[in-house]
Amino acid sequence: PKKPVRKPEWLKAKAPGGETFHALKKLARDLNLHTVCESAQCPNIGECWNQKAATFMMLGNLCTRRCGFCAVPKGKPEPIDHDEPRRVAYAVAQLGLAHAVVTSVNRDDDNVGAARAFVEVIREIRLQAPGCRIEVLTPDFQGQAIPLQMVVDAKPEILNHNIETVPRLYRVAKSGGKYPRSLAFLAGVKELNPEQVTKTGIIVGMGEEMHELLAVFRDLADRKVDILTIGQYLRPSKDHLVMTRFYTPDEFEFLKHEALAMGFKHVESGPLVRSSYHAHEQAQSTGLV
Ligand code: SF4
Ligand code: SF4
Repeated sequence: PKKPVRKPEWLKAKAPGGETFHALKKLARDLNLHTVCESAQCPNIGECWNQKAATFMMLGNLCTRRCGFCAVPKGKPEPIDHDEPRRVAYAVAQLGLAHAVVTSVNRDDDNVGAARAFVEVIREIRLQAPGCRIEVLTPDFQGQAIPLQMVVDAKPEILNHNIETVPRLYRVAKSGGKYPRSLAFLAGVKELNPEQVTKTGIIVGMGEEMHELLAVFRDLADRKVDILTIGQYLRPSKDHLVMTRFYTPDEFEFLKHEALAMGFKHVESGPLVRSSYHAHEQAQSTGLV
């Protein structure tokens, strides 16, 4: 029988624990909030939470899509909780965050309702935690124009939409999504507001080829995306997409180098990089926000 693949040293993250970690866990539970950190089983939870960095996930803990790589539970969503943005902002204020990242599950059942939650959370954070930098990571709203316009009008400091993978793998990895639609989303943001800082992320190790990754980078750079994150896929369970290989730290460096040469303002690339990993530092180093 084949030996199980051992995790390379560079992928070993610190085990979660510590005072701040437990305080954040309690706060999220008391306010009935979800975090991607927990729902997506992020390996960085120990490090991030102890630095008071967390990514809040709105609109329930059940996603209407079934991306092959994602650990967020799937199912029929609950009705939208209209008070949730206020509670997220309260948590942001309580934690004294300088940079808040807010995302949501996909709500293909109600794209305008989903966009409204982003607009509300931006408004509430501005009220309750003035001065906090706001990054939203949104779904594609199925390419609908109105939800996109709503979020752009709310002017978050950073508007992020993850491309996730190369077009050939959308069918297996991001089945509810469409590559051209995600590109159009990112291009659409810049068309509506050329000043808006945009960001996207890609996961490697799901079967893509190097030349395919570089072609995606070029597509994104053509849409003037400002910030790019590149991280290693880690299979959440055996029901998820197979992980084809580990990229080495040198390969992540190579990808970063190539992407920077194409014109991205900031590239965060490494085995443990997630879309929201070091989000605060990413924003600072762009000099854009
Ligand atoms: Fe949470 Fe993002 Fe940090 Fe992971 S990288 S623990 S999702 S803030
Ligand atoms: Fe996960 Fe895909 Fe749903 Fe996002 S859209 S939460 S990646 S299943």
